[in-house]
Amino acid sequence: MSRVLHPTLPPHLVGLDRYEPGLPVEQAPPSPRLGRVVKLASNENPLGPSPRSMAAVQAALPRVHLYPDGPASALRAALGAHLGFSPAQIVIGNGSTDLIDLAARAFLGPENNAVISEGAFARFGQVVRARNGHARLVPMRGHRHDLEAMAAATDKGTRLVYVANPNNPTGTWNSSAEIEALLSGLPAEALLVLDEAYFEYAEGEDGYPDGLDYVRKGGRLLVVRTFSKAYGLAGLRVGYGVAPAYVAEALDTVREPFNSNALGQIGALEALKDQDHVARTVALNRTERPRLETALLERGLRPLPSLANFLCVDSGRDGIEIFRRLLRRGVIVRPLGAYAMPRWLRVSVGTQEENDTFLEALDQVLAEMPKP
Ligand code: PMP
Repeated sequence: MSRVLHPTLPPHLVGLDRYEPGLPVEQAPPSPRLGRVVKLASNENPLGPSPRSMAAVQAALPRVHLYPDGPASALRAALGAHLGFSPAQIVIGNGSTDLIDLAARAFLGPENNAVISEGAFARFGQVVRARNGHARLVPMRGHRHDLEAMAAATDKGTRLVYVANPNNPTGTWNSSAEIEALLSGLPAEALLVLDEAYFEYAEGEDGYPDGLDYVRKGGRLLVVRTFSKAYGLAGLRVGYGVAPAYVAEALDTVREPFNSNALGQIGALEALKDQDHVARTVALNRTERPRLETALLERGLRPLPSLANFLCVDSGRDGIEIFRRLLRRGVIVRPLGAYAMPRWLRVSVGTQEENDTFLEALDQVLAEMPKP
């Protein structure tokens, strides 16, 4: 929604949207079924953080009077060893949204543009406009990024192309062949920002690419990942980018000196060592997501195919109204009006108990609302 700004503020801020986060649990009553709020609105990890990570953060509390290690050397070294990259190719961010912004900060001038899908993660367009660059929006095709059309939309002013794979809020994804074709079709000055926030959930699915393979081959791209989703540390704000060293250097030059906080660095380091927790998280999602998908279809709702830890579903009704009625029953989901999808909802995959609670509340809501 555009706002009218004070006349002394920079004109490029007019029409700039703010990111709309999921509603916090404090703003909903508890679900009568579970006795607590069920938040399925921000694609968080329903199993919580790894116990090992929590213990490390707790032990580090007496040292929070000290500044963090600015370059996050230990975490970069551990990620480098885990992923098979030199730490010089890794940049840590205050969540992965920080990396999305750092790319714009480093690469965009007012005369430049960034190519983005119309239905892509909202933050892409927001950071580009906030940095006074031009966001060139390309329509999606069948709720998927149309990478061919995106490559065609680039020109000599293009410095960035943002692709989320899988995408949020749709959950849809692009294949290796599509990503490879995009990479080879970009102008020499353009950097592909490949946002893989949900990588761990999608990894190994037939045809789903690992963006790091293209970095290994010397591609001009920044792969962005996060500790917020499968690692369960959304509140600690740690994300990372992997890129050719010259790109990592550019981001490192423009980042805030202490952009990743001390507890976040420690929590992420321990979470990385706890791959069992990630495996449990991914396994839960692999059983619960299809179950939820089937349950939605049985109710006549239409979910898009998803490789992430959420489903994007066409309710055929007023999405905001369903959201409000679920909220009164202690279940928070995400309406997608901000994405110009007024009938759609995005629902994170929770624990079995949380998903059942959502479905029970949904049945009550659908019974109250007229059929489309
Ligand atoms: N990218 C995508 C595609 C996302 O869905 C999200 C979370 N909503 C993020 C990035 C940002 O996550 P974080 O900043 O917590 O790492």
